[in-house]
Amino acid sequence: MVDVSKRPRPELEPEYCKGCNRCVEACAHGCIVPGQEINSLTGLVPVSLHLDDCNGCALCIDACPEPYGLRVEDDAPARLRPQPIDVPSVRLPLPEGKPLILKGAHASAIGALLAGCRHFFGYPITPSTEGAELMARLLPQLDGHFVQAVSEVATVNMMYGCGGAGLPCMTFTSSPGFSLMLEGVSYMIGAEVPGVIVNVMRGGPGLGNIGPEQSDIKLMCRGLGHGATHAIVLAPATPQEMLDFTQLAFALAFEYRNPVMIAADGYLGQMTGKVTLPPSMVRPGLPAWAVYGDAAHRGNLINSIHLAEADLEAHNRHLQAKYLRMIKAEQRADLYRCDDADVLLVACNTPARMAKGAVRALREGGIAAGLFRPQTLWPFPVKALKPLLEQVRQIVVVEASDGQLEDELRLALSHAGVGEGIEIRHVRRMGGVLPSQREIVDGVRAAVKRRATA
Ligand code: SF4
Ligand code: SF4
Repeated sequence: MVDVSKRPRPELEPEYCKGCNRCVEACAHGCIVPGQEINSLTGLVPVSLHLDDCNGCALCIDACPEPYGLRVEDDAPARLRPQPIDVPSVRLPLPEGKPLILKGAHASAIGALLAGCRHFFGYPITPSTEGAELMARLLPQLDGHFVQAVSEVATVNMMYGCGGAGLPCMTFTSSPGFSLMLEGVSYMIGAEVPGVIVNVMRGGPGLGNIGPEQSDIKLMCRGLGHGATHAIVLAPATPQEMLDFTQLAFALAFEYRNPVMIAADGYLGQMTGKVTLPPSMVRPGLPAWAVYGDAAHRGNLINSIHLAEADLEAHNRHLQAKYLRMIKAEQRADLYRCDDADVLLVACNTPARMAKGAVRALREGGIAAGLFRPQTLWPFPVKALKPLLEQVRQIVVVEASDGQLEDELRLALSHAGVGEGIEIRHVRRMGGVLPSQREIVDGVRAAVKRRATA
């Protein structure tokens, strides 16, 4: 028989009580009554406790939505105070199946579902909408939640709340929509909230068009809102990588407690390709830090505000240390025929596919070309690039933008203190036009000729 007299009693922190009276309704013993006095600190009316008949059932504590409103007495034994613990994710085996033919955006949505994502927030925008559409169709069947928000600003703030509760969540968007999300992304980074944003980039600036452009590399790598913000940016080049990288993005988002960006382009979102499903899927756990809304997690608090300057500086230093860990551990690149390359093509996303074809054509024509494909744009995979620079004489950056990838390359080389003296040229298209294999081959041949005659 439980000795109810030994159970801890609730305590009230009046300055955190919003006077919602949920605890009043929760108590069957009438121990909590609506307050009569305005709290001078908050201007609200906290409840009042009369615990003579209290049996310590804790139903009022469960009902209180405020992290510090009602809690058990501070001197209650620890075993009676529920503590948050890390509940780890579990990998569940999947039956072997035949490869599927999927659009890039659909592959990404399936990758998210297999990563355990059951919460989607979004606002439709071409050419990313197919991903959201598939989530809208599948999530209700999987006990999940699809919310079409009123805007991208609302979307990212819903992600802030959901990620803050420790749940895997995502959105699909495209360049103008992504621009609108940036303030919220900064909040998520500041508050260390995980979430996955798939940005199917399109032509800009402004509304631009719906053609494929790598128009947000700069934003994703250098401009994720105000303050010292960074996030891992994954750059897939095939529908298979759309699935694989989306799965990976969720793991990284929780490992680092930080949003993760997937930089796709409009062509990749629409392109169909063969996709093999992984051998397992994830049943997500629940991190101890989550503001989950149950008694165990009630003491948790997530925010991005640090009013004392020294506190904010310390928080920034903590974030910088985290960014450094990402830079050290998360650089990824795919190298194609780079071992003996004299000319290195650097390209990502769909332009990397044309660049790969160009490498083959150039080799057939006697030019020792190779393709260096960054799979992470931030951190830029300079570690894998460094050894190649001993033999490479020229770099040609192939991109569908005004030089945003080239800027990342140049910054990475400069920070690493390597690559000085190596000529960097480019083949660029913009406005929704992708560089063709022919243009790349011609551009590389012209660069090689210029070097030979210099
Ligand atoms: S612990 Fe139970 S009995 Fe005591 S005030 Fe809360 S709800 Fe009422
Ligand atoms: S539930 Fe919490 S916030 Fe609401 S009145 Fe009770 S103590 Fe105050």
